[in-house]
Amino acid sequence: MAELDPEIAAHIDAELGRQREGLEMIASENHTAAAVMQAQGSVLTNKYAEGYPGKRYYGGCEHVDAVESLALERVKALFGAGFANVQPHSGAQANASVMHALIRPGDTVLGLNLAHGGHLTHGMKINFSGRLYDIVPYGVDESTHRVDMDEVAALAREHRPKMIIAGWSAYPRQLDFARFREVADEVGAYLMVDMAHFAGLVATGLHASPVPHAHVVTSTTHKTLAGPRGGIILTNDADIAKKVNSAVFPGQQGGPLEHVIAGKAVAFKIAASEGFRDRQERTLAGARILAERLIRPDVTEHGITVLTGGTDVHLVLVDLRDSPLDGQQGEDLLAAVDITINRNSVPFDPRPPMVTSGLRIGTPALATRGFGEEAFREVADVIAETLKVGAAGAAGTDNTDGTLDGALTGLRERVRGLAAAH
Ligand code: PLP
Repeated sequence: MAELDPEIAAHIDAELGRQREGLEMIASENHTAAAVMQAQGSVLTNKYAEGYPGKRYYGGCEHVDAVESLALERVKALFGAGFANVQPHSGAQANASVMHALIRPGDTVLGLNLAHGGHLTHGMKINFSGRLYDIVPYGVDESTHRVDMDEVAALAREHRPKMIIAGWSAYPRQLDFARFREVADEVGAYLMVDMAHFAGLVATGLHASPVPHAHVVTSTTHKTLAGPRGGIILTNDADIAKKVNSAVFPGQQGGPLEHVIAGKAVAFKIAASEGFRDRQERTLAGARILAERLIRPDVTEHGITVLTGGTDVHLVLVDLRDSPLDGQQGEDLLAAVDITINRNSVPFDPRPPMVTSGLRIGTPALATRGFGEEAFREVADVIAETLKVGAAGAAGTDNTDGTLDGALTGLRERVRGLAAAH
């Protein structure tokens, strides 16, 4: 590539440097295995394979059939599901396919409000979900910041949705899947659980599984699951499985990405290993340590507010509504010390979505790099100190000896040390 296209090669090299020298703490990101990238860079990318294993519309599919069959068997075993589809190109395509399979345009759907941690595909106005379906959003409670199942039940009784979506992109606690199913059954709705964020935790038994409760489960494969970018759909219902298969192909997609499906198969194999469970345990421990050390006043002087007071999963949501710092400034400060996170609206956020009053900070990629408890304590303290220095600067009470830049240089050195050691 360096000879054929030196510009692209240089950009890829620079991105490798960025990933090595900094710390990736975007909660939806991870570092996938070299073997997954080998699969994605293989000759399977050349092959058209519309259809499903044994029932293709193209010749020469014997090897991709074997690959896709392995991916299917592995993902069903990993999550204890009777049926699977591994062809969705992404999490959004998986969700679109399930809605296409089970409900009709104009039907009512209950989904978690985007501003309270839901995903675009759970009903955002200009997403396909918001345009095609009549969305009734449910939110989190204003004082606990947790999903209020009584509100979900009341909205379901009032609006009689055809589908209820449970799942999130920014929420630090586990959902009650059994209760969601009770509500869905009461009003005759399908329950779709989107476990994109926490699939790696489910695969290792560290998070309740939605598979026994939901009619259908969707996921991405590249977040906590640490595989290639892509989507999957799982169900235990043969009739739903049939509808889902025809909604994915030919309903939503053409030829499957067999090189990515091979990468998914490799990732599912890795996810079934002991080492992967250890990684997910460190992911959870890291998030817990991060929440504890941000909150503790003796570490951060005044303490930093963390939504719900902690976390049960791989991420922490920092609440800056009462801080002189906004989400954009928090994201920029952490970027200045080479920690990549994303600003995120918090529920009832007074600031606009491009600014926000929240930070979403996740631990999966650092756990993949081998971070243990001591390293997570150090990164938590660097984040706390960076935000503290920034807040003092923003409030005009900067009493650090040097400039803001001076204080951040020392913090960036600590980040470089952690990156070099992992
Ligand atoms: N579902 C949830 C809960 C997500 O958080 C995301 C992505 O962030 C998706 C679906 C969409 O996945 P993709 O970006 O692969 O389309």
